[in-house]
Amino acid sequence: MSSETMRAAVFLGPQEMELRDMPRPVAGPGEVVIKIAACAVCGTDLRIFSGGKTRGVYPPRVLGHEIAGSVVALGPGVEAHTDVRLGQRVATPPGIPCLACRFCNTGHENLCRRRAALGYRYDGGFAEYMVVPAAGVERGLIFPIPDRLSDVEAALAEPLACVVNGHRKSAVALGDVVLIIGAGPIGLMHLQLVRLGGARKVLVSEPSAARRRLADQLGATRTIDPDAEDLAAAVKEETGGDGADVVVAAIGVPRLVNMLLAVTRPGGRVNLFAGYSGTGETTVEANLIHYGELVVTGTNACTREDFRQALHLLSGGQFQAAPLVTHRFPLEQIAEAFEVTRSGAGLRVVVEP
Ligand SMILES: [Zn+2]
Ligand SMILES: [Zn+2]
Repeated sequence: MSSETMRAAVFLGPQEMELRDMPRPVAGPGEVVIKIAACAVCGTDLRIFSGGKTRGVYPPRVLGHEIAGSVVALGPGVEAHTDVRLGQRVATPPGIPCLACRFCNTGHENLCRRRAALGYRYDGGFAEYMVVPAAGVERGLIFPIPDRLSDVEAALAEPLACVVNGHRKSAVALGDVVLIIGAGPIGLMHLQLVRLGGARKVLVSEPSAARRRLADQLGATRTIDPDAEDLAAAVKEETGGDGADVVVAAIGVPRLVNMLLAVTRPGGRVNLFAGYSGTGETTVEANLIHYGELVVTGTNACTREDFRQALHLLSGGQFQAAPLVTHRFPLEQIAEAFEVTRSGAGLRVVVEP
């Protein structure tokens, strides 16, 4: 056995994370060890760190599930399940679905109740090395990173895969007018996908001027400062009074839900993409859905197929990842990486162990 060590950021409990030396993982039967090159900080990491209950996270645990790196060890028997080679650059979606339940068998593996995930149940990417368990290797979690994609860009494949999932739920059609609430990294990913999907107009509501500017650059038809402008009036103006065909909530504020329903056209679609901290409880005016015949959907994580599509989008040239990454920190500064994400001073913040 190897007695080599590695540096890792270990989540110990609410508000407690410590940089530690841990044994460097070795590849057991069926396992693959990845040297982490980049791991992006997700809102979910912040929620876990700040004490929000998240299913399947048992400290001490290395968090981080937006992962890119290179293969440094292959366990015995791995070749039966993957063609991956030593030294190859790879990215992994975090979720390991059971592949036996009704959800897995009907294309909804992201909803699998036995799904375990890297950075939740298993140690994740805020460390120098990470092991992909045999079940993950078997179920095809190891994706080669296309040559034209940097490791930092590849670390965005996971959040983009979740956006691909939400985008499909929104069923954006040619000529649609889409309203996106929030121009953080997720809102800006939605904006770009909606553009590629043929939307006629994309309206983006965002209080930060810097984020509105970026939304303009990435193809927004009109950006709206909801603190200074009447959002509902702006949507009416842009849609001849009908309301938006599709509304995407990329921020999770419960008290906004009725407003989202009210600015959607009759028969339109609303995707509640962002999670709600706490219970997410709010009073919904159910008649807005009833009389408007609205279709309201949620989005939870991604499938492996969503992840494959996200890698294609990132490497295809029509999707801009670089403007979404504003900060890069070494592992020793992970506390700062979390703080920059929490404060909203950055968009995607990437840790490079
Ligand atoms: Zn994430
Ligand atoms: Zn399942």
